Amino acid sequence: MENKEITVTSPLLPSLEDFIPMLKDIWDRKWLTNNGHYHKELEKALAEYLGVEYLSLFTNGTLPLITALQAMRVTGEVITTPYSFVATTHSIWWNGLKPVFVDVEEETGNINPEKIEAAITPHTTAIMPVHVYGTPCNMKRIQEIADIYGLKIIYDAAHAFGVKKDGVSVLKAGDMSTLSFHATKVYNTIEGGALICHDAATKKRIDYLKNFGFAGETTVVAPGINSKMDEIRAAYGLLNLKQVDSAIAKRKSIAEKYREALKDMPGIRFLHDIEGVRHNYAYFPIFIDEAIYGMSRDALYEKLKEYNIYGRRYFYPLISTFSAYKGLDSANPANLPVAHKLANQVLCLPMFANLNDADIDRIITVVANKG
Ligand SMILES: *Cc1c(COP(=O)(O)O)cnc(C)c1O
Repeated sequence: MENKEITVTSPLLPSLEDFIPMLKDIWDRKWLTNNGHYHKELEKALAEYLGVEYLSLFTNGTLPLITALQAMRVTGEVITTPYSFVATTHSIWWNGLKPVFVDVEEETGNINPEKIEAAITPHTTAIMPVHVYGTPCNMKRIQEIADIYGLKIIYDAAHAFGVKKDGVSVLKAGDMSTLSFHATKVYNTIEGGALICHDAATKKRIDYLKNFGFAGETTVVAPGINSKMDEIRAAYGLLNLKQVDSAIAKRKSIAEKYREALKDMPGIRFLHDIEGVRHNYAYFPIFIDEAIYGMSRDALYEKLKEYNIYGRRYFYPLISTFSAYKGLDSANPANLPVAHKLANQVLCLPMFANLNDADIDRIITVVANKG
């Protein structure tokens, strides 16, 4: 008991009691996928909850990124961040486009807007920023740059479920935004995702693209892919949507406990709430300054493991260091000093709605005593 395993995350699960009648209903309808009853309900419910008008469900959070680039016929080069999950850059590669990495802000880990212009070339057509850990990017500045150069913006908002700035969903920014509903995220449908756009014609086009391009029984209007969410996951998602607000409230109180315990610990930095932002507490990253803390990030990561506590180094290694990308000029570490610094300092502590006080105390004790 003393030493029970504490994982970095644990999925938000709906009650089986509520889920089973929905499964029975799906069995009765014998309609398992292709824009079924629960699919339609979940699309509507999510759009309403998130405060957006046009949302299309997907089978995961990677295909909406790939489809967004397709839907806008992005060409040439796409400016993006190396400080993210690999899927962000992979989606660019899968469209036959060239990713161009730009360094991040030390404060947030988000792409540094002041570094974007220097990376724009005659081939640049889009920017793909990420709201890392759910902290909103500097959306105003990124839009200004996009407007000057005529670039599209696709936000990877996989971490930003329910995040608002000044009462407005961050999903309203740019041309499109994507969400992931993977089991590890704040809100999950086991596997799942969504693509958010801002007009009905574009949503229609996205809905063709996620269903092979079918516009009718015998009409294929575009070379689409298959990324349809099935009825079982949509029903599961409807149940989870009902409890996501209470899950976010619990995450907030966990973040507050961590912050209180770590606030006077030399060499450890963490993120603070930003005024006017409705945060979702998707992660609890700490950044370790080895010279002051007296122990390296990796040593602490290993030490926690000895106590059966599993943190995660999100995001280490940087995407720009993987074999597919490290040959790019923009992947040169000299171009990305802040991203490298954060990747070497970061450790995400366990964060999920049901993390209890005793577990938090155990984690804090190891971090404080360095063993
Ligand atoms: C999780 C995640 C994705 C991919 O989502 P999947 O649902 O796992 O395909 C993309 N980008 C970021 C930043 C993520 O964290």
